[in-house]
Amino acid sequence: MKGSLRLNEPMAKHVSWRAGGAARQAYVPADLMDLAAFLKSLPADEPVLFVGLGSNLLVRDGGFKGTVILMHAVLNTVRLEGERIYAEAGVASPKLARFAAKHDFAGAEFLAGIPGTIGGALAMNAGCYGAETWESVDAVQTINRRGELQQRKPDAYEIGYRHVALRVNGERLTVIEADQVRAGNHRSPITDHAEEWFTAAWFKFKHGDGQAAQQRIKALLQKRIASQPLQQPNAGSVFRNPPQDHAARLIEACGLKGRRLGNAQVSEKHANFIVNLGAATAADIEGLIGMVQETVRREQGVLLVPEVRIVGDSVSGSGAKCEPCHTNG
Ligand SMILES: Cc1cc2nc3c(=O)[nH]c(=O)nc-3n(C[C@H](O)[C@H](O)[C@H](O)COP(=O)(O)OP(=O)(O)OC[C@H]3O[C@@H](n4cnc5c(N)ncnc54)[C@H](O)[C@@H]3O)c2cc1C
Repeated sequence: MKGSLRLNEPMAKHVSWRAGGAARQAYVPADLMDLAAFLKSLPADEPVLFVGLGSNLLVRDGGFKGTVILMHAVLNTVRLEGERIYAEAGVASPKLARFAAKHDFAGAEFLAGIPGTIGGALAMNAGCYGAETWESVDAVQTINRRGELQQRKPDAYEIGYRHVALRVNGERLTVIEADQVRAGNHRSPITDHAEEWFTAAWFKFKHGDGQAAQQRIKALLQKRIASQPLQQPNAGSVFRNPPQDHAARLIEACGLKGRRLGNAQVSEKHANFIVNLGAATAADIEGLIGMVQETVRREQGVLLVPEVRIVGDSVSGSGAKCEPCHTNG
């Protein structure tokens, strides 16, 4: 292997919440062929978790008993290929937005404010301001446990709001664990023989005015700075928006802005963000997610579904007590 293998790797270093446990091992591949050889060398039942910039991810305090593949800054090529843009999975999404604008394409601007990788954007169908990643995908390249590469078209997937699942022989195989990995009800990633992950994508954007696209990027970023708590560690929107509503509105209506559990807090600036005040544990964050979910269900009759992915094992008995939420019943 040409990449680097790290044992007991603290995942707080690799997730934007800057909290949580360690991975039993983490691998930084040197290149695509090295990634293929490494995956092939793993035992068939080894839990595998691909991680981009960890901007939508939390590893519980007991850690992830498996192998994490750290993709950011590996597979980092973005280039023009005729009318399409080819971007590898480790490319930061804002880099693709800037590249597209520089080459006079329109429609990639929304990616400038999404602080993850292309791999993460594909897995999440990341989106904002009315645009979503898969609307512009022409094809993807994937890799499986045997290190085999495949090219797939979007029609191979079931694609929805923050949801992507591969269909195989008409069946829905959630290689990308969108619905299973929810706070509290999923302990480890699915180990399925059909598991595969994204290594690159070809995007088709409309031709446009590059300068207008650069201006739009600036405006979108300013909007984010004004409305999101970007100075504090967070993972973006914690919950998906329910149909025809906003999770932030529901959370705010319950008076939960500013609510704390240990060192995790519902942001004062944006109610659908949970921030780490400095020394939050994953249990603080997950506990607060559960508390918000339960309060909104009770008071507003809506079950909010977490958008963030939570993996790994809890430490039994960990987590702070949430006095205000006990007071509220
Ligand atoms: C300040 C802030 C603002 C945000 N704003 C938005 C927003 O507007 N819209 C939005 O949609 N999201 C937003 N997010 C969430 C997050 O940035 C996106 O979901 C992003 O696409 C995640 O990319 P990542 O590389 O960080 O993925 P990670 O957090 O590393 O991983 C997320 C999931 O994708 C999987 N994954 C990662 N790489 C791969 C791969 N190569 N192949 C297969 N699976 C993979 C992981 O296993 C995990 O399940 C925001 C986050 C923050 C911190």
